[in-house]
Amino acid sequence: MRPSVVVIGGGLAGLTAARCLRARGCEATVLEAAPGPGGRAAGGEHEGFCWDGGAHAVSARDVNLAALIAEAGLAAELLPLRPERLFQVSGGSSVPIDPAGTLGIARIPGVRWRDALRLRRLPRLLAKFEELIDPADPVLAARLDDRSLADFVRLYFGASALDHWAAPLMAGDALADPHETSRLLFILLHLARHEAPVGSLRGSFRELASALTEESDRFGASVRNVEAAGPGFRVTYEQNGAEQTKESDGVVLATPAEFVLPLAGASLGCAERRFFEAAQSVPALVLVAALEGDFAEKASRFRFRPDERRPVVSMAVEPGGAPSRLVPEGCERAVLVASAEWSAAHFDAPDDVVTKTLAGSLGRVLPGAPDAMRFSRVLRHRRAFPRFDVGRYRDLQRLRDVEADQLARGRHLVFAGDYRIAPTAEAAVVSGQRAATQLADKMTVKIGGR
Ligand SMILES: Cc1cc2nc3c(=O)[nH]c(=O)nc-3n(C[C@H](O)[C@H](O)[C@H](O)COP(=O)(O)OP(=O)(O)OC[C@H]3O[C@@H](n4cnc5c(N)ncnc54)[C@H](O)[C@@H]3O)c2cc1C
Repeated sequence: MRPSVVVIGGGLAGLTAARCLRARGCEATVLEAAPGPGGRAAGGEHEGFCWDGGAHAVSARDVNLAALIAEAGLAAELLPLRPERLFQVSGGSSVPIDPAGTLGIARIPGVRWRDALRLRRLPRLLAKFEELIDPADPVLAARLDDRSLADFVRLYFGASALDHWAAPLMAGDALADPHETSRLLFILLHLARHEAPVGSLRGSFRELASALTEESDRFGASVRNVEAAGPGFRVTYEQNGAEQTKESDGVVLATPAEFVLPLAGASLGCAERRFFEAAQSVPALVLVAALEGDFAEKASRFRFRPDERRPVVSMAVEPGGAPSRLVPEGCERAVLVASAEWSAAHFDAPDDVVTKTLAGSLGRVLPGAPDAMRFSRVLRHRRAFPRFDVGRYRDLQRLRDVEADQLARGRHLVFAGDYRIAPTAEAAVVSGQRAATQLADKMTVKIGGR
């Protein structure tokens, strides 16, 4: 008999886990609360414009994501990555930057010459960190999780490197506060996003999510409870207003960390409960603006310095026409992501208020663009990015040990999601693969062999 697994959550982590479990001979069913797959990565489509849940940047080092795309048969549609030019917005101007390597960082406007000289240490430090860090399993380097990125960058490279290089990187990539965020996350993102080429998919994450979906998966199925039932689990969920249950041998919990306790608290030990009680993420308001006309010649990403009290921290612009299938010819698409503070303060503000304010930032970078908007959409992510404050990777290391211990004792329940590695699509994919492998290793031996 094939072991059965319920995967709760149809984001990239859950869909990847389900795919891997099926490949290992398990019967996997995804239960997803939203009407469609993809979670935070999935966006929408209107009048020939397509968009993701945010302005998703993908790195050439996101090798597991690229492999998943190829396995799903979408390599020709989504890859190779579409290159982007990077700009930093400071004061009233946007300046092209190239933060790959010491020289590029030293040339970012605002980095003082004395701090630029200190950046000569960077290659040596990065070489040392690269030896220690496995990007797919950063908890192995949890001993680096001892100071904030602000303390780290100030100490080694000076205050101007923090303000003009590290803080905009972390705000733009993860809406992270440099004073709270672990330096380990900063090093991970720097290695992935600066030491390797970055671009965007040639298609949408929604296409990938759809390709990973099977007929047995259920959407609009909101799980209410997971409880132990004999050697397996009983999962209670609501679909079309009716309560239903599904029995399974194993469960993958692939929801954001904040949902784990309300769903499965009774099946968890106290160390796990402590981990999930401390889970935090930041919200994001996103404006998708469909523009008529040519504003940027090439695909471009703009980073705003977070200390200038602007609502926006990053913006990506995609010109239309070949080779883009995402934006019609003669048009452009801008995606603006608001800061965590602004998003939290305005989360429930009406769409027109959010649009007007964020379009102000759009107009400062691309004059005339707000008047050329054909339509716009406001996307609201209450839990956009998990927080990786100092100490979180040590907590993750403990969670991993407890989870492995419980698996060894026969509890076939594992956790997946970007919160286990880093706030990226690649991390979500890797966490899904890892959860599936752990579970399949145990279940196919125990249940398959019974
Ligand atoms: C604005 C924004 C910009 C981003 N930019 C980038 C970027 O540039 N590069 C990058 O790599 N990554 C980026 N990301 C991050 C990336 O999208 C996420 O890391 C990834 O999508 C997380 O996937 P996940 O499966 O871990 O979680 P999710 O996508 O959150 O999936 C969890 C799923 O669980 C479901 N769920 C929750 N509760 C229940 C329940 N009770 N029953 C059933 N289902 C439930 C949810 O509906 C959701 O679909 C960005 C994210 C946002 C929001």
